[in-house]
Amino acid sequence: MGVLDREYLGMGAEVQKFEQDLTTFFSRQALCVVNGTAALHLALQAAGVGRGCDVLVPSLTYVASFQAIAATGARAIPCDIGEDTLTLDVKDAEKRLTPQTKAIMPVHYAGGVGKLDALYDFARKKGLRVIEDAAHAFGTVYEGKRVGGFGDIACFSFDGIKNITSGEGGCVVTDDQNIIRKVSDARLLGVEKDSEKRYAGARSWSFDVTAQGWRYHMSNVMAAIGIVQLQRFSHFAAIRQQCAKKYDSLLKDSQAIRILKQNYDEVVPHIYPVILPDSCNRETVIAFMAERNIQTGIHYQPNHTLSYFKFDGMAIPAITEKIGQRLLTLPLHPDVTDDDVQYVVKNLLESVQ
Ligand SMILES: *Cc1c(COP(=O)(O)O)cnc(C)c1O
Repeated sequence: MGVLDREYLGMGAEVQKFEQDLTTFFSRQALCVVNGTAALHLALQAAGVGRGCDVLVPSLTYVASFQAIAATGARAIPCDIGEDTLTLDVKDAEKRLTPQTKAIMPVHYAGGVGKLDALYDFARKKGLRVIEDAAHAFGTVYEGKRVGGFGDIACFSFDGIKNITSGEGGCVVTDDQNIIRKVSDARLLGVEKDSEKRYAGARSWSFDVTAQGWRYHMSNVMAAIGIVQLQRFSHFAAIRQQCAKKYDSLLKDSQAIRILKQNYDEVVPHIYPVILPDSCNRETVIAFMAERNIQTGIHYQPNHTLSYFKFDGMAIPAITEKIGQRLLTLPLHPDVTDDDVQYVVKNLLESVQ
């Protein structure tokens, strides 16, 4: 791939090329950073979120969303989710608005986006910035448009298990030039126009810094992996969609297991979670599956239950509380075959009887 031979492993030609490819993919400008958490942190900071601000975010997400908000000095307000797609419930979020609320961070859980139009209507009405945590939703299409290709700001992750990977990586996608400018500098310690210099093969020896920056840029090595992964994305996406459709077809009539309401012609699923019946013990199911060589997961322990993010003085997100204890994620990745799915479902149904 050349990048190792040229022996320039920092941020240069490969990162620029990966950004150009992503910009074509989204039909909007993309900026690469070191991981998805950094993408969220920089997007929030560029949107003016900081100390004294509140950000609405579903409690049911990876702790990365909460830590990115906390990193700006702002407060993450854990919101509830809708039962169908387990994405942020706008009506619940509205109840949790404070005078300090500056932004809302929908999380595209498992790859689905829920009622994203309603969320944007709400944000517009209340004057909130929208930072989409689209880490699960690379490739998902909503109402004919690709996630990231519309709306305010979307952040993606290219970590090792996501829909595409660069080993480690992430990107911020927006058409707000003010955000682009700020993220572009802030990822390189706030050194003004250092991105442009590095793409021209130069370094900044004399410069100004006018804002807080971080060492969050992507390296050429990671970008070289991302470039190839992006070329193979339609192949990966088709397998993920096919796998989720197979699970759906085998589970849709089950009385015991509840599945999410997703259209897998549009959603590119990152994970395939199901909701177990009240009658069974999740730990027992996990152990039963493990004995049969089936690895399952829990996405996620709700963030409002974590000591650092406990939130007093506001109603507990009730649906999150209830469903959070019943969630179980089944194997879904490009190497899972139809036979594997059948084997998983057969054992799952047996385990909950
Ligand atoms: C993976 C993930 C992130 C963060 O991405 P990293 O690249 O791991 O930093 C953020 N939010 C969600 C929901 C994720 O799954």
